[in-house]
Amino acid sequence: MNEPIKKIAVLTSGGDAPGMNAAIRAVVRACTYYRVECVGVYRGYQGLIEGDFEALSGRNVSNIINKGGTILKSARSEEFKTTEGRKKAYENLKKEGVGALVIIGGDGTFTGGLKFIHEFNFPVIGIPGTIDNDIYGTDRTIGYDTALNTVVEVIDKIRDTASSHNRLFFIEVMGRDAGFIALNSGIGAGAEEILIPEKNLGLERLVESLKASKEKGKTSSIVVVSEGDKIGKNVFELGDHIKEIFPDYDIRVSVLGHMQRGGSPSCRDRVLASRLGVAAVEHLLDRTSGVMVGITNNQVTTVGLNKAIKMNHDIDQELLKVAEITSV
Ligand code: ATP
Repeated sequence: MNEPIKKIAVLTSGGDAPGMNAAIRAVVRACTYYRVECVGVYRGYQGLIEGDFEALSGRNVSNIINKGGTILKSARSEEFKTTEGRKKAYENLKKEGVGALVIIGGDGTFTGGLKFIHEFNFPVIGIPGTIDNDIYGTDRTIGYDTALNTVVEVIDKIRDTASSHNRLFFIEVMGRDAGFIALNSGIGAGAEEILIPEKNLGLERLVESLKASKEKGKTSSIVVVSEGDKIGKNVFELGDHIKEIFPDYDIRVSVLGHMQRGGSPSCRDRVLASRLGVAAVEHLLDRTSGVMVGITNNQVTTVGLNKAIKMNHDIDQELLKVAEITSV
């Protein structure tokens, strides 16, 4: 850790998220600014193991700030979960003259990064890039804001058709373990009910709520369901079950799927990614390692990678209350 860092590597790993390119760009440009070399690693940890590197200069990252996905590609690497795989990755980094690594991804990516630090005492800093917003130590992850805007735009369109035909729509959004997308897009799009993994609403409550909506004269309803909700039925089974109770409702199910990951990043995600990319490089050059850079109360902060992966980013109780009040 005492030699000066002359070269920094950057990779994207796990599920891709809009804004990852803006983060790569910021890392590369910060390296240029601080006069250290930068190398991009393709396909996440698998590319580290295979030595799939490319030197990146400030100009190589022109015109990517507005692009979804990741120019460095992402991959899930089983080999990196083994000690031998990580050893190969370390040897490749050493051979390339890389002195520190920036990893952009979610909790799996950070778990791998932590092991790497412990085994090889190699400096690593994490940047939270995932649409789910399920990382502790940052108010927002890169990609989350764009995904929310995408979901709200689609639900607005579905609402037009729902209200024209007396339809009850179940819309499944991403978030296997975390309901941030469902809760916030549900509030933003005016959903009648929002089902999230953190809160067990129970089927009966949902039925009661739909009955109450009907009695109040609502002619159409939108229920946003997080893919990990605790009701215990998948969204299609849920639709079938509700149809038995409300035979006169025209029930439709829509699974938004991977469209939530795509698209040009929102301005908010681009700014977040730019700030975190610069901060990651600055912290590495200041000899910090083993942390994730994040945003808390609009300030760039750091949190230990061990905390970022182990602790929960809690659902805001006030948002749950707002969802309930605004759907009466
Ligand atoms: P997302 O939240 O979008 O799914 P993620 O970073 O959690 O992103 P994962 O597929 O869980 O995505 O992890 C990405 C990569 O990190 C894995 O393919 C693997 O190479 C590495 N990784 C995950 N868990 C471990 C682990 N326990 N040990 C070593 N490496 C790991």
